[in-house]
Amino acid sequence: MKLATKEEIEEIKRRLLEHYPAAETELHYRNAYELLVAIMLSAQCTDKRVNMITPALFEKYPDIPSLANADLDEVKALIKTCSFFNNKAKNLIKMAQMVMEEYGGEIPMDEKKLVKLPGVGQKTAHVFMIEYTHANLMAVDTHVFRVAHRLGLSDAKTVEGTEKDLVEKFKTDLNRIHQAMVLFGRYICTAKNPKCDTECFLTDLCKSRESFKAK
Ligand code: SF4
Repeated sequence: MKLATKEEIEEIKRRLLEHYPAAETELHYRNAYELLVAIMLSAQCTDKRVNMITPALFEKYPDIPSLANADLDEVKALIKTCSFFNNKAKNLIKMAQMVMEEYGGEIPMDEKKLVKLPGVGQKTAHVFMIEYTHANLMAVDTHVFRVAHRLGLSDAKTVEGTEKDLVEKFKTDLNRIHQAMVLFGRYICTAKNPKCDTECFLTDLCKSRESFKAK
């Protein structure tokens, strides 16, 4: 597959930012605690499902102290429609306990501290920092990975390699580009039947367009 040229990268960036001027997560949250919990739940689970689960979860456990003291089986019951709910329930409680013990109950606004929390990997930490602090960071989920490859922005086989390529190529506005690529991948450049002819605004720059032309 051909990779995008420097000019094409600039144009892709310009159009993504133009089409999604104020892109933000579709997860519902009211504070840092709710955002972190929602992002942790969203691994391998749709934002739509997470938004169905979190109101009852946050009513029962409205903050870090209550979650740190939560009953594991009760948390499991509240999130059981989410994939990997057993592990997620354990990690949510452990995360809250560590935030209590190490940071006095305040979620640390620091990527290096966040990744040390149970159940918070680099992607979760980046998505949190992107959304909550607008940090100039990239995070690669399934949508960003697919879009990056279809547009020739990366040919890396791994999520880490793709993130490195995107950071090197876009350099600035990474938080906004991340959010834009998630929405673009979720609604336009979908895994099956991407909307190449009807809604895509990057057709002329796409390196995969031929694969989706009607036979
Ligand atoms: S032309 Fe199709 S495959 Fe290419 S970026 Fe647009 S929607 Fe995705």
